Amino acid sequence: MIGSAYGARAAQRALAEQPVTAAGIEEAREYVSSLMDVDLSTVMVEVVSNSKWGDSGAEGIHFKAGLDQHLIVMPSYVASAIEVLVHEFGHAAHAIKQRQNGEYPCFFTADGTVELISHYCQHHYIVERLSRDHLLIALGQLTTASYALSIQASGTKDFDHYEASGAA
Ligand SMILES: [Zn+2]
Repeated sequence: MIGSAYGARAAQRALAEQPVTAAGIEEAREYVSSLMDVDLSTVMVEVVSNSKWGDSGAEGIHFKAGLDQHLIVMPSYVASAIEVLVHEFGHAAHAIKQRQNGEYPCFFTADGTVELISHYCQHHYIVERLSRDHLLIALGQLTTASYALSIQASGTKDFDHYEASGAA
């Protein structure tokens, strides 16, 4: 399903680049704030022109700062812009909860669990406001990233060694 979704015309439309707008930033902020029950009003968003965006591997980046002064940096155009913003605000929500409740072990800080929170927000948003194609593409990105992390964690050299190791 994921593979065929990538080839479908509707999915190509879902992947079309959109501008990151002030309205989109506020929609994402409000959505995640309500979903995660956390005040995200102090989270800053900086939009950088695509020509200066040097990281082809990231659609958006979240930097932790202080208790709630986090910064999200976005390229000016990206596929499914509000969905990406929701993902990044999910990171901010998690960081705020974690820093405000440092004594509680339920707010994990490991890379893998941090991504679970942001993907929860992202997938929740997709199911409520976007399309089935958006969901299949997001699931494809999640499984691809998880595979890459698993391969790296297994210590094997490449995909063929990983498959043969039985770790998959
Ligand atoms: Zn993330």
